[in-house]
Amino acid sequence: MSEIILKSRDEIELIRESSLLVSKTLGMLAKEIKPGITSLELDKKAEEYIRDNKAEPGFLGLYDFPNTLCVSPNEQVVHGIPNKNILKEGDVISIDCGVYKNGFYGDHAYTFPVGEISIEIETLLKTTKESLYIGIESFKEGNRVGDLGHSIQDYCEKKGYSVVRELVGHGIGKKMHEGPEIPNYGSRGTGKKFVNGMVIAIEPMINLGSKKLKQLNDGWTVVTYDNKVSAHFEHNVALIDGRPELLSTYSFIYEAMGILSDEEKPFKKSHEINS
Ligand code: MG
Ligand code: MG
Repeated sequence: MSEIILKSRDEIELIRESSLLVSKTLGMLAKEIKPGITSLELDKKAEEYIRDNKAEPGFLGLYDFPNTLCVSPNEQVVHGIPNKNILKEGDVISIDCGVYKNGFYGDHAYTFPVGEISIEIETLLKTTKESLYIGIESFKEGNRVGDLGHSIQDYCEKKGYSVVRELVGHGIGKKMHEGPEIPNYGSRGTGKKFVNGMVIAIEPMINLGSKKLKQLNDGWTVVTYDNKVSAHFEHNVALIDGRPELLSTYSFIYEAMGILSDEEKPFKKSHEINS
């Protein structure tokens, strides 16, 4: 992975713009996700929406990926290629979306339920999202990459889930993937130190069963070896004045799904916290 590139406040605002367009794209998709729709239809809507907003899909063509979205249902962990398979009640789909605008990338993801899902899978989704915020909380001055990874790993393993090792979070900016790598596992006090101006994508990938993976013949799709469900949530976060500030938001998704949540409140811009 490439080097760590610290960002100025102005550059962070440009990344925020790209991240927020991903957030809005996911919010738009949230209204469309229901039994009967295909991931290819979602992909087309996302591409159109991003281009209508004077930006480019960030994944399309990146490392030769063929689509705008990575759509990974059920046992697929990440990098699923949109197709004509119909989503059905009880499925879950991780939708990962990237945007490129004004020279900077945004990259974030949410795992959506399709209709009603089982309590077992709902709890996996809930825990994975909680672990994302626990990871964000440890992205602060004085901590290291290993502290963040450890916090996510500890939280998820104590609940009986397993943490994917082969795929990790990353720095983000003029490139989709910059340093440092941000694993969702690790040891306290190890790895690169967090410093102001870092912007990273934190993205726990958590499995219901074994952490073991395999890749499908398409050269992209990563699935769990035991075919049990996997969940994936991702936010873009900047380190400003020693504390983590969210650049992406799930608020558009929650608005579409009628969910009330204050989970992002501790990580908002300081002037937004009291408003
Ligand atoms: Mg992503
Ligand atoms: Mg990412």
